[in-house]
Amino acid sequence: MMFLKKHTLALKLILMNMILFVATFHTIMTFNEIKQKELSFYIRSKVNLIYDELHSFTQYYINSENVFIEKGIHHFNSVGIVNPEPKEIRKFSEQLNLLSIKLKDLVNDDYWTLAVIDKDHKDILYCLPLRVAHIKDLYEYNLDLLGEIAKRNNIPKTYEEYLKSTRLKLTLPYKEKFSHEHIRSIILPIYIKNNMSALLILDVKCGILKNWVSEFNKSQWTLYSTEKDTYHKRLKDKKLKYLNNGEILPIYLNYIDVIKFSLLISFLMTVTLFLLYRLSSNVMNLIRLDNMTKCFRRDYGENKFKNKLISNKSVFIFDIDHFKKINDTYGHDVGDQVISATAAIIKRNIRKSEQLYRWGGEEFVLILNISEPDAALRKAEQLRKAIEAQTELDINFTISIGCTIAHNMTLDESIKVADKALYTAKNNGRNQVVVK
Ligand code: GH3
Ligand code: MG
Ligand code: MG
Repeated sequence: MMFLKKHTLALKLILMNMILFVATFHTIMTFNEIKQKELSFYIRSKVNLIYDELHSFTQYYINSENVFIEKGIHHFNSVGIVNPEPKEIRKFSEQLNLLSIKLKDLVNDDYWTLAVIDKDHKDILYCLPLRVAHIKDLYEYNLDLLGEIAKRNNIPKTYEEYLKSTRLKLTLPYKEKFSHEHIRSIILPIYIKNNMSALLILDVKCGILKNWVSEFNKSQWTLYSTEKDTYHKRLKDKKLKYLNNGEILPIYLNYIDVIKFSLLISFLMTVTLFLLYRLSSNVMNLIRLDNMTKCFRRDYGENKFKNKLISNKSVFIFDIDHFKKINDTYGHDVGDQVISATAAIIKRNIRKSEQLYRWGGEEFVLILNISEPDAALRKAEQLRKAIEAQTELDINFTISIGCTIAHNMTLDESIKVADKALYTAKNNGRNQVVVK
């Protein structure tokens, strides 16, 4: 029976875990689908932050002083300058350096290059850091790198047209010539008197989108991936207009990840619910116990069996023999000890799940799943002998036990019969069991 009970509990827990797993799985899927819009905003705000930082630099560019430098490659404040002919150039390397520090804060390891291409008779290139690839690039396009980049990215030549155009904020990925690094660029044109005067460009590594998605995952508890896995679901496309016209950032959900999380969460929930259930039933039991003997109180037993019929169970009633005499001879305190010891011995001889009730001063009631009178008698004899043989207290004492096998009886009715059996046991000389 106990074996079956334990298994029923295990089955219940497995079933609960399965239901929680399905519910968690669906919740995670729905949560990720809903949050996708927020991801879109997140990436957009990242690009806008970069764009705003670049914008703040335009004032320095427009208002900068000039300084004469020779033809060649120069370095000021970590900025590499490629000047194809001796002339006066704009002096903003300090501000460009400060801007690069702020941008590195925003893009971290995905920072590749910050550059200004200043349009002049021959373009002047400011790069941070300056790579051989940049110098080669400048000369590859006959010192008109600005014209080439503007053409490639459809950047209008005049401010008037620029105002009407849709602004490209982040280019499609491309492989940088010579360095072969896969990058994207954020390009801000600077106009003076309606004409394009310079391009301010931040190159970032292509992995930046993947990294932004991971950052978002960490802060928002989502499970997005930008890569297709074997078991994946592609979420509904959200057009990321700020990337490029029509460019779509595909977002995937890996089913294995969702299953792993659902299993973990449902397992934790099952364990928590189980522990809460155990805790609450322990607390409930505590408030149902009699202070002195830690047996269940009579009122709890009566309530539990109210309006219920007991069938195929044995009902025992225990009464300590000549208890008044014990009280009179050894005092009330020893009497209390005898009552407590009786309860403790009976409890030691029954299962934890079987409830012993303190029915009166020195009377106890026990209901067991025993339907055979012989088996009930054997059990009662075992308990009686255990009391008779006890050595925890210095004094000897005995109990009498009345028992009946209940068939469709109320608790009250069965106790009345057991009480009659007890009466017979007392009359027959005590320290004995009678089953009726
Ligand atoms: P019998 O063998 O016929 O049962 O004789 P008895 O002396 O045990 O008689 P009975 O069962 O009627 O005795 C009950 C006594 O138990 C009466 C009361 O003074 C005493 N008693 C009841 N509750 C407590 C208790 O909590 N502590 C102590 N020390 N005595 C109690
Ligand atoms: Mg009594
Ligand atoms: Mg008694």
